[in-house]
Amino acid sequence: MIEIVSSSACIKCDVCIKVCPTDVFDRGADGVPVIARQSDCQTCFMCEAYCPTDALYVSPVATPVGADSPHASESAVSGAGLLGGYREMVGWGGGRTPGSRLDQNPVLTSIPPLAEPRLSTPADLAEGPWNHQRQA
Ligand code: SF4
Ligand code: SF4
Repeated sequence: MIEIVSSSACIKCDVCIKVCPTDVFDRGADGVPVIARQSDCQTCFMCEAYCPTDALYVSPVATPVGADSPHASESAVSGAGLLGGYREMVGWGGGRTPGSRLDQNPVLTSIPPLAEPRLSTPADLAEGPWNHQRQA
């Protein structure tokens, strides 16, 4: 679920507002998107993947992590290198190899472990079937 918009990294391009399929964001008065309808987020990661400046963080769980979670803390997420971590994982962005060039099969064997283990894993994720790290 979307948790963080970094106002310092955002360049106010509106891309996340446009790509979000469930209209989670509003454009703030200063141009930086605000998470206006978090409960509508379907954790699709599209906004994070498309953000050109790695200003977004979508937590890997489908419910809000809570204010006391490191996954809701910009300083913790940024410090762990997870702002735009999903974008990095799929190889989007300058200087990265697109995942589609690594995994040309349906098994996705070349996808690296999820980046989130850089922070403590949210409880809801620990037994998730798509948690590659769990299967390592
Ligand atoms: S993760 Fe998907 S649904 Fe959630 S805010 Fe981003 S684009 Fe919208
Ligand atoms: S896509 Fe990134 S840079 Fe563009 S408005 Fe959204 S948060 Fe800001």
